[in-house]
Amino acid sequence: MDNTVFRDISYGMYIIGSRFDNKNVGCVINTLVQITSENPIIAISLNKDNYTNEAIRKTKKFSASIISEKTKPKVISKFGYYTSKEIDKFKDTNYEIIDNIPVVTEDISSYLICDVVDIIDCKTHDIILGRVNITKKQTNNVPMTYKFYHEVIKGTSPKKAPTYIEGAEDKNAVKHQCTICGYIYDDAKEKIRFDDLADDWKCPLCGVGKDKFIKISE
Ligand code: FE
Repeated sequence: MDNTVFRDISYGMYIIGSRFDNKNVGCVINTLVQITSENPIIAISLNKDNYTNEAIRKTKKFSASIISEKTKPKVISKFGYYTSKEIDKFKDTNYEIIDNIPVVTEDISSYLICDVVDIIDCKTHDIILGRVNITKKQTNNVPMTYKFYHEVIKGTSPKKAPTYIEGAEDKNAVKHQCTICGYIYDDAKEKIRFDDLADDWKCPLCGVGKDKFIKISE
């Protein structure tokens, strides 16, 4: 089976928000689809180990902010690569509390607020079906596609993502990967080699220094 075929499936980029023990929790996903149009229902897929999944199971509510091409990469990496168990991801990012649920509003296209109507067990992941109660068009920003995230922002998929492909990022060029957010610096695609970057160079996704990068291929 050629697993890279999965890369041909199109997705958007979303920040999911919920509440847990009076804490705002959230994460980034690419797996959100509209299932029905009358009494609209959407489906999202979340890893079972994901703290946000635990929160949604308890609260039975979630928000989905549609990430736009203007959303800052730092916001995506903060919501995508850290756990709400350890940090407050909503701190320093514009958000509102709507229907008791946190909703990221900064630079997004639109958002939806949903009540959970069903959860389908898919071994490593859960498919959560949510009835949409509230929607708002926040800006006219173009929604970000997963392809844009990979090709323009050069983001990668964390291991818990349903679309993660083992080794898909590896080719034969020298590459260095950020151990914090997963960002890959590929010498073959850059004008300057990683080793020649200035000492104060920072990861464009999460902002850490060169010392947090490891060589992943030669
Ligand atoms: Fe990083």
